[in-house]
Amino acid sequence: MGFAVAIDGPAAAGKGTIARALADRFHLAYLDTGSLYRAVGAKVQDGMTPLDAARGLCPADLARDDLRSAEAGQAASQVAALPDVRAALVDFQRAFAAQEGGAVLDGRDIGTVICPDAQVKLFITASAQVRTQRRLAELRAAGSDIGFEELLKQVQDRDHRDSTRADAPLRPADDAVLIDTTDMDIQTAIAAAADVIAAKRL
Ligand code: C5P
Repeated sequence: MGFAVAIDGPAAAGKGTIARALADRFHLAYLDTGSLYRAVGAKVQDGMTPLDAARGLCPADLARDDLRSAEAGQAASQVAALPDVRAALVDFQRAFAAQEGGAVLDGRDIGTVICPDAQVKLFITASAQVRTQRRLAELRAAGSDIGFEELLKQVQDRDHRDSTRADAPLRPADDAVLIDTTDMDIQTAIAAAADVIAAKRL
């Protein structure tokens, strides 16, 4: 097995940006596992059953341009609560994590379920208010006119659903390093995460 970095945390905590920067810096492959659930959610909204959508997931599904919307995030979190859907996506994620050159995966259950033996586990978090503010800026830049209160409620609903579901709930692995980005700029957060990896790779 190659060098695996597992990054978990709630929506908009900064884990995607951190994961991409780490993959770049340490020359590791990167998988945004949220995009798998977003793509399954989008296919369900198109009329497929969740299990067919998950089993038939293909690269073109991941390239859809409607996966980053707030609605796609909600749909993802609904299908992600279904154990059959999660099970259908496990093998792909584990194979990705085990690739020879090493990999960074971010999601909700990477350190706990997908890669319990990952060499590095990070749990990236931030207050719901700050995460909502960050996501609002992203969505506004993409042309959405959603308001702060509505988005805060969606973020809180998603946090609740993700952390209370029976199968693979969002929680830090016992051996994860916690990074709270509430009062950190993104470069500081990336540097903190890179220090953890550098220490393990020595
Ligand atoms: O990370 P992102 O916001 O794109 O994830 C969308 C949704 O997919 C999450 O709210 C969560 O319900 C689900 N997810 C998951 N397990 C993962 C990644 C994402 O349940 N490993």
